[in-house]
Amino acid sequence: MRLSRYFLPILKETPKEAEIVSHRLMLRAGMMRQQAAGIYSWLPLGLKVLRKIEGIVREEQNRAGALEMLMPTVQPADLWIESGRYDDYGKEMLRISDRHDRSMLYGPTNEEMITEIFRSYVRSFRDLPLNLYHIQWKFRDEVRPRFGVMRGREFFMKDAYSFDLDKESARRAYHRMFVAYLRTFARLGMQAIPMKADSGPIGGDMSHEFIVLASTGESGVFCHKDLLDMPVPGEDVDFDSDLSPIVDAWTSLYAATDEKHDEAAFAAVPEDRRIAARGIEVGHIFYFGTKYSDPMNAKVTTADGQNVPVHMGSYGIGVSRLVGAIIEASHDDNGIIWPASVAPFDAAVVNLKQGDAATDAMCERLYGEMRAAGFDALYDDTDQRAGAKFATMDLIGVPWQVVVGPKGLASGEVELKNRATGERASLTPEAAMNRLV
Ligand code: ATP
Ligand code: MG
Ligand code: MG
Ligand code: MG
Repeated sequence: MRLSRYFLPILKETPKEAEIVSHRLMLRAGMMRQQAAGIYSWLPLGLKVLRKIEGIVREEQNRAGALEMLMPTVQPADLWIESGRYDDYGKEMLRISDRHDRSMLYGPTNEEMITEIFRSYVRSFRDLPLNLYHIQWKFRDEVRPRFGVMRGREFFMKDAYSFDLDKESARRAYHRMFVAYLRTFARLGMQAIPMKADSGPIGGDMSHEFIVLASTGESGVFCHKDLLDMPVPGEDVDFDSDLSPIVDAWTSLYAATDEKHDEAAFAAVPEDRRIAARGIEVGHIFYFGTKYSDPMNAKVTTADGQNVPVHMGSYGIGVSRLVGAIIEASHDDNGIIWPASVAPFDAAVVNLKQGDAATDAMCERLYGEMRAAGFDALYDDTDQRAGAKFATMDLIGVPWQVVVGPKGLASGEVELKNRATGERASLTPEAAMNRLV
């Protein structure tokens, strides 16, 4: 991408309305624009990051055996009346009527709709287990939308729903999502700790929130420090095998959100290993048994011919919230430091003297080579001054920057800069390219 042809509306001033660093940086870097409280347009740079996160979430859901589909954002109210949640959900639900005065709503989540789909097609235990997911916009009319995309009203969520014959099988489905979540957040460059979370009226031990520690987080959390060094399962993890040893290892150390916090159990953690902090909820997995299948009559026949309600779980990831959460976890005074996996561009060429024939030619060459090598490359071919160009690259957090100017070229060199470490090296253009590949 040539910067001269891109749409990157960088803000010079720090927006006053933004209280936390990720919100400030997303606005300054021209990633998104607020259209109403908690409702945003995603500008080209922001959308690129959102799509990369979405892609990783999708790959790990697929790897774990979940099947992607797509449900609509607008739902009929009838389903929610059936499940009994239409009244319970309260003011967080955006209620709409269509031209025939039918009650509709903008979906805050999809348990009801997926249960309706399931019961329409699935009849037998032979079709289980099943896990269906989608990545779709949600709307919750939050009392206090704030912190930019971290607590929006319209937000992008991955939600998966598992269907099993009994609790034991549902536990295995839960474990698959647990492991998929560990892998997903690690690939996004984040340390997200699974913590015991409120499981509502059903109770039980199968509800975990995945929490990223951050002082600006809205949840109070308590955990054992060793969880920060716990190894995450590799790509070769077999989702058809028994995953309980992995889940047991992660859940054997104390970790709970404030709703589930147990002072006595926490006191048993050695003092120098105790973390009491704030955190951001980036994901939530939940087994809820027959809470929806009962009232909505989603039943399957068992091997011995009985008709029983299916056991369900749901598994959410806040895809748009993650954009903010990643920035909260990874930035410095100059801007965003993207983990390579979600960076909007892999590498950039910075032209220090646009219009100088030799400099232009070298920039074009490097830009071409980067693209040929499969990099998503950004070429700053504008006529801004050098200082402004450096500031922009650091603000938007391009991981590798190759700076080209007449002075360096006179001795056959360009400068390679690493955004995360700040390290710079003068190298031949070939050596700089080799470092990237
Ligand atoms: P919170 O406690 O932050 O209000 P929640 O527990 O209500 O979140 P869930 O119903 O568990 O949210 O939804 C799954 C995921 O969706 C959450 O873990 C979070 O990452 C994301 N999410 C929920 N509400 C919002 C929001 N208003 N804006 C952005 N992301 C959200
Ligand atoms: Mg909420
Ligand atoms: Mg919550
Ligand atoms: Mg939650």
